[in-house]
Amino acid sequence: MLLCLTAHAQQKKAVSIHDQKMNKFIDGLLLKMTLEEKIGQLNLLTGGEATTGSVVSTGVEDKIRKGQVGGIFSLTTPARIRKVQEIAVTQTRLKIPMIFGQDVIHGYKTTFPIPLGMSCTWDIDLIQKTARVAAIEASADGLNWTFSPMVDISRDPRWGRISEGSGEDTYLGSQIAMAMVKGYQGDDLSKNNTIMACVKHFALYGAAEAGRDYNTTDMSLNRMYNEYLPPYKAAIEAGAGSVMTSFNDINGVPATANKWLMTDLLRKQWGFKGFVVTDYTAINELIDHGLGDLQKVSALSLNAGVDMDMVGEGFLSTLKKSVQQGKVKTTQIDQACRLILEAKYKLGLFEDPFRYCNEERAKTEILKPEHLQLAREAAGQSFVLLKNEGNVLPLRKTGTIALIGPLSNTGTNMPGTWSVNSDLANTVSLLDGMKAALGSQVKILHSFGANLMADEEYQKRATMFGRDIPRDSRSEEDIIKEAVDIAKKSDVVVAALGESSEMTGESSSRTNLDIPETQKRLLEALLKTGKPVVLVLFSGRPLTLSWEAQNVPAILNVWFGGTETAKAVTDVLFGDVNPSGKLTTTFPKNVGQIPLYYSHKNTGRPLVAGQWFSKFRSNYLDVDNDPLYPFGYGLSYTTFAYSDLKMSNTSFKKGGSVTASIVVKNTGSREGREIVQLYVQDLVGTETRPVKELKGFQKIRLLPGEQKTVTFKISSDDLRFYNAALKYDSELGDFKIFIGGNSMDVMESSFKLKN
Ligand code: BGC
Repeated sequence: MLLCLTAHAQQKKAVSIHDQKMNKFIDGLLLKMTLEEKIGQLNLLTGGEATTGSVVSTGVEDKIRKGQVGGIFSLTTPARIRKVQEIAVTQTRLKIPMIFGQDVIHGYKTTFPIPLGMSCTWDIDLIQKTARVAAIEASADGLNWTFSPMVDISRDPRWGRISEGSGEDTYLGSQIAMAMVKGYQGDDLSKNNTIMACVKHFALYGAAEAGRDYNTTDMSLNRMYNEYLPPYKAAIEAGAGSVMTSFNDINGVPATANKWLMTDLLRKQWGFKGFVVTDYTAINELIDHGLGDLQKVSALSLNAGVDMDMVGEGFLSTLKKSVQQGKVKTTQIDQACRLILEAKYKLGLFEDPFRYCNEERAKTEILKPEHLQLAREAAGQSFVLLKNEGNVLPLRKTGTIALIGPLSNTGTNMPGTWSVNSDLANTVSLLDGMKAALGSQVKILHSFGANLMADEEYQKRATMFGRDIPRDSRSEEDIIKEAVDIAKKSDVVVAALGESSEMTGESSSRTNLDIPETQKRLLEALLKTGKPVVLVLFSGRPLTLSWEAQNVPAILNVWFGGTETAKAVTDVLFGDVNPSGKLTTTFPKNVGQIPLYYSHKNTGRPLVAGQWFSKFRSNYLDVDNDPLYPFGYGLSYTTFAYSDLKMSNTSFKKGGSVTASIVVKNTGSREGREIVQLYVQDLVGTETRPVKELKGFQKIRLLPGEQKTVTFKISSDDLRFYNAALKYDSELGDFKIFIGGNSMDVMESSFKLKN
């Protein structure tokens, strides 16, 4: 114990010596800087390799020379980054290095599944490993800062950016947020293979009204603190070096001008010590929010707690005037500048501005075989088997397969949205991947039909990263006829349908979440052939699949699986990998049920379990309240049985804990992974509490016939929530616990929290 304390004390001492050294260095630098140079540090421009916003920076090199740029994003490779860094460190008066950022969202060149898919692995170590690999590759390519993790909780699949987050759950989202930060930053930011994380989009961006991107958010403090804010807080507690503001209005004050959010909450309550960057031109957009002209909104934003202005150049063009007019204090600019310089210091850039510019690393550390292997594994574990009637899956490696559909022959769509640097040239389509994996064992007949993706105008709107699926001149009838003909000649049909990768992501909200009509007509025609049909469903959000769930025997939801999608889909379709992904977002029956999430409140007129309509109860006339597929749901090629739920005690005291154990048995004939989920309900509170809240999960592996006892510890700390006074505490009384393989299919027990 003494040894331990000494080590800790020594570490603390070392940290503070490091901090002292840094503070001394930055104090000295700030003394030398002019007001203009300080304002220059607050300016972030784009290098223009990817267009991720509505304007592109111009005259960048010239501005760097004038000391007007603190950082660049969307510029990659050691050679290109070295070139502009050289301008900063040789041609400016104070030779301050720049920071280089990028949207490294789900991998870099090696791309992992979209974040929503990754979350369905429920494998925190695996997720952390993917972030680590992303950091290794990005830093090898010259970068030192990523605009990730995106930790916005969303319960609205109309919102296209639900694809970029970890789904609807606060607890799981928080675990993932921490893992990503640790994966990117490692334990030492100054290492040349770690990068700084940026938690986004602060805050509540995922709760946009009507699921329309950039739309207003209006939310009670109760919901904010208990449901939406914890993942940001978790990422900050894990040490994230920066935070990005969100575009949306929050209860009347847009996030980018929201002092309560950025100063009172983020810095004073949560103790965040890093810097805050805006989202793309978010300061300028405060003009359209109706907060004033550029000078006014820039001052507002700085005074609210923003340190760095992304692309908009409002800080650059107006802050000096605002200082002269007394609207902004120089101390506020000094503080923002200090935080940005600190980040550069921590990244080791003052010591060596070219620390991340290593051609050798770029050649050897990107797209390594082990990175691709991890991508394949992650993709395989992210897929969710929604239905498998009559065990159509796994397929046998013999006979003839008809591979059909607009997503069957596109490599560029496999990585999914926000895969800016993905190695597209080597990302193969499902068709090529399957052919390569199966050789001559299986005969593959193929019909593509890009035109069936969606109607042409729709497709044109859904494009941000230029991953179009090239259309041809054939009519829908011709394409369907060809597909039906080859289906008839086959033993089984694999239909690769769903959304194109750009139908989700930024500015890609939808109000109709069905598979596009044209594809549905194809699917109907295929089903009419009487052949078994497997729907391999690509999507970046929950789709409304009521018709498919009734009519298609097997549905494998594969999201967008990254670089190794084709291999991973083949692995799962043919049973080399047993699917184990579980949904982290509820699949509604129709759009009218949205928002639909498992951790809802009970209301004063809940439905009696098992009923779907009862007058004067909280329900709909036309559809029941249940989801099509609940949170936590996902099938396997084997089956699991739950039994013997036992509690170590029926009550415990505050400060204490209880354990719940359950026996899980593999009752099928294949080895499989099961994600065992623990939910709790606080039955009586000073505030209304959700009907269920996820409080733990374990992913286990079982051989056929094998069983394991899975044990969860529940302490009174796990039962805490923010009450009306925003006090975080547990309350005495009765609780229920639920354990099972998804949020609906559970065994239950109870306990009491006593004084
Ligand atoms: C997005 C951010 C992204 C930024 C920089 C914005 O449009 O909202 O998520 O990090 O662009 O590319």
